[in-house]
Amino acid sequence: MVHIRSWEIVVDALRDSDSGMRDAVNASKHGVAVRTVRRWRRVYQREQKARGQTHTTVPCPRCHEVSIDEAAYAELFGWYLGDGYLIEARRGVYTLSVFNDACYVELNLHIADLMRRVKPGGRLHIRGITGCLSTSVDWRHWPCLFPQHGPGRKHERVLGMADWQWTIVRDHPADFLRGLFHSDGCRVRNWASRPVAGELKRYDYPRWQFVMSAGGRPCGRAGRALAAGRGWVWPPSEGRARLVAPPPVPGPYVSGIGQISAASGRPG
Ligand SMILES: [Zn+2]
Repeated sequence: MVHIRSWEIVVDALRDSDSGMRDAVNASKHGVAVRTVRRWRRVYQREQKARGQTHTTVPCPRCHEVSIDEAAYAELFGWYLGDGYLIEARRGVYTLSVFNDACYVELNLHIADLMRRVKPGGRLHIRGITGCLSTSVDWRHWPCLFPQHGPGRKHERVLGMADWQWTIVRDHPADFLRGLFHSDGCRVRNWASRPVAGELKRYDYPRWQFVMSAGGRPCGRAGRALAAGRGWVWPPSEGRARLVAPPPVPGPYVSGIGQISAASGRPG
């Protein structure tokens, strides 16, 4: 059944009807005709049609204690910290959007897959915005999964990490780092010179860089601790963090990060 009204209005009206509200009062409250409320009741109460589109009734891993795809969450968390945005849409529903360059077709498909795995049954919204692709899914429970959400710009706030988040990223360090790298990281060709047998030699090598603002340091420290498990260097630099490491596998997709082992101990 297709509704002109938002599904939230339909659900709210049916809830009021279930609790005994008269149709006329219900219609007035929700700004619809009385016959509309009656039609909704007929369809969903008398005919026992299943209520809700499945995407609106997905249980929350935090509120309802259902399991979550931890690997997908760890990577989506990394993306969120970089180029992810969480905004309140309406009626308590939040939109999580991840922006990425439209040229990375495979990566954008991967972002959509991550969102599907974290919110099974969620409806994807994909928009092109001047060279970028925005991949979004609505959910009331995004703030439960990303408690870093708050007023103001993300990169200007201090982003702590909840204990349960640290547990997940510690168990899935490769996925978390992959999300961080792909969102706010870049791969460059760097060079260094070293004296060899009395002669200065130049070496060119690829490296990954990841820059995190001062506000993101708590999460940056998590990334540093996890990267340390692989012996990577992440020196502090001018209030920012930069991870310097040769890429395990060249290419636009960081599949080689999957070899990183978990580091012990929580970052301070
Ligand atoms: Zn929740």
